[in-house]
Amino acid sequence: MSVKKEIKCPSCKKWTLWRGETYDRCLYCNEFLQNDVFIKQVENKLREEVKEESDIFFVKPTDGKFVGAAKRFLRKFRRFFVFAQAALIGFMTFLLWLIGMLST
Ligand SMILES: [Zn+2]
Repeated sequence: MSVKKEIKCPSCKKWTLWRGETYDRCLYCNEFLQNDVFIKQVENKLREEVKEESDIFFVKPTDGKFVGAAKRFLRKFRRFFVFAQAALIGFMTFLLWLIGMLST
């Protein structure tokens, strides 16, 4: 994906060429053009991981008894699923290691 675009450099305020990449630098001062965007992306990701309210299964005080219970159940179920997945990966790794040990 290459979107050639003229944008204003955030540090020297000159118009420079941007190819749509996060690591593109200004032609005049050699600063990263997408610094803000890149930082914001990282921040958003971190915020999403931390923020429980953004969770679709977050139990709001406005939720009814049934919705609350359903959400709590789904969250537990999801946690179990993640755990099961991790356990499976661990088991597969162990199995591959075992096969490797046996075949040598
Ligand atoms: Zn610049």
